[in-house]
Amino acid sequence: MMVERWLAQRTELFGHSVIEHIFELASTLEDRVDLSIGQPHFEVPSKIQEAAIEAIRAGRNRYSISQGIEELREALRQKIRQEYQGDDREVIITCGTSGALVLATAALINPGDEVILFDPWFVVYDRLVKLFGGQPVYINTYPRFTIDPEKLAAALTPKTKLIIINSPNNPTGVVASSEEVEAVAKLAMRQGIAILSDEIYKAYCYDQPFTSPGYFNPWTIVAGGFSKTYGVPGWRLGFVHGPKPIIDRMIRIQQYTFVCPPHPFQWAMLTALEVDVASHIADYARKRDQLLQGLRDYYDLVPPTGAFYAFPHVPWGTGKSFVEHALRRYRLLLVPGGVFSQQDTHFRIAYAVDETTLSRGIELLRSLAENPP
Ligand code: PMP
Repeated sequence: MMVERWLAQRTELFGHSVIEHIFELASTLEDRVDLSIGQPHFEVPSKIQEAAIEAIRAGRNRYSISQGIEELREALRQKIRQEYQGDDREVIITCGTSGALVLATAALINPGDEVILFDPWFVVYDRLVKLFGGQPVYINTYPRFTIDPEKLAAALTPKTKLIIINSPNNPTGVVASSEEVEAVAKLAMRQGIAILSDEIYKAYCYDQPFTSPGYFNPWTIVAGGFSKTYGVPGWRLGFVHGPKPIIDRMIRIQQYTFVCPPHPFQWAMLTALEVDVASHIADYARKRDQLLQGLRDYYDLVPPTGAFYAFPHVPWGTGKSFVEHALRRYRLLLVPGGVFSQQDTHFRIAYAVDETTLSRGIELLRSLAENPP
């Protein structure tokens, strides 16, 4: 029986990836240096851990209402109102920022709609766009990873429904300037196009303040996060805010799909909002400096200004061949740029790691640059 023939065509969007191949190779290696994983290395602050345990012990283990507990929504609403434009902004709690992205794309994209993605992009975006029958339109941001409003304007057609923007950016680590963000936000507003702003790395801006398109455009839909800010990616919580009619429809979709976000952890996030993570952010700012210093003279690298990634040009070969060689020869795990892009000329380093791993990683990267195969 060929069970594969039952598979829907859309499952082909989620076929084997280069990244999976790299991780398979890596799983056989002991003593590897892993700069591939995009999650914080620090422990969850103890106050937040205690709040989660307490919520479980207090019996908060049944479903919550779909949109998330009112206490957490209200705490977020207050922060959002102070910061973002839009009087009818509403917020719901989601299953990770991923859940926010799924709900937003499900709520907005009709078959045939065009969706603007800036290349390189976070891997999930084009899959989600295609899942709902949309057509990604890629805008190249190489070599400096900046957004050119003229290129954006030229890419718009009557079919353009949505622009997805992600700053601080995965995979480049670049924080968009307030001018770039404002230009995108206002262009979208003038043209009546929706914007989805993925702000999961908002807390990680090292050299300049964070800017959201939602500071200029009241219709901006914002996917927010907890995973990276508090070191809780396994708790699967995030949130999304935007114009009430759109958020209301997302709540309906959540009711019929995810049902509700993990209930006890929602209570823990209420505590998390009060926790100061500045020391962790400062630690990653230092690690960013250390990485930049270590790779200077070895790599062509746009200095990252946020998140915890760097995206250098490969010194030789393609992203894939470079990353495979790094793994085979040095047991160093990286991610090839082609995973995030229409071109495979760069590679991603995730530096959310301990001091020893980072120092060893930098040494190995220098050897790699100096010793082509
Ligand atoms: N957006 C971006 C840009 C990300 O890098 C990630 C996580 N790698 C997500 C969304 C998903 O986050 P979460 O774990 O909260 O679902």
